[in-house]
Amino acid sequence: MNECIFCKIVAGEIPSNKVYEDDEVVAFMDINPANPGHTLVVPKKHFRNLLDIDEGTAAKVMEAAVKVAKAIKKALNPDGLNLFHASEKAAFQTVFHFHIHVIPRWEGDDLVEPWKPKKGDPERIAETAAKIREAMG
Ligand code: 5GP
Ligand code: ZN
Repeated sequence: MNECIFCKIVAGEIPSNKVYEDDEVVAFMDINPANPGHTLVVPKKHFRNLLDIDEGTAAKVMEAAVKVAKAIKKALNPDGLNLFHASEKAAFQTVFHFHIHVIPRWEGDDLVEPWKPKKGDPERIAETAAKIREAMG
């Protein structure tokens, strides 16, 4: 039995405020909005997160996120927007069905930066880049 809350929202088994739907993607309002208009964009098919989803489906989700962002701008006229995604608990994922948060932003709202920029060691950055390039295959 599938206990995934977003699968249930996709199937209409539990209510949500949907704002967009196509063959592969649904977008609906977050029940704990960071700001008014906070929307979640999810594939209809269940994937755990970025480490699991295929590139084609991820592209469809991103296309829908762009549409949602433009509709939020038109409807609510925010000063800006953030996209946020969490893969795994270490990255703050709490619902394990792939989703992208589209969060409207206003100057002076109470959201905070997730990190403070600090100067990196150029050698270490280059070494890390080499590892990732190697892993790209
Ligand atoms: P995560 O922490 O995994 O990046 O984001 C999960 C998001 O799903 C949270 O922002 C949370 O408020 C939202 N959420 C959790 N349960 C429900 C629900 O039943 N309905 C809706 N609309 N959003 C939910
Ligand atoms: Zn699911």
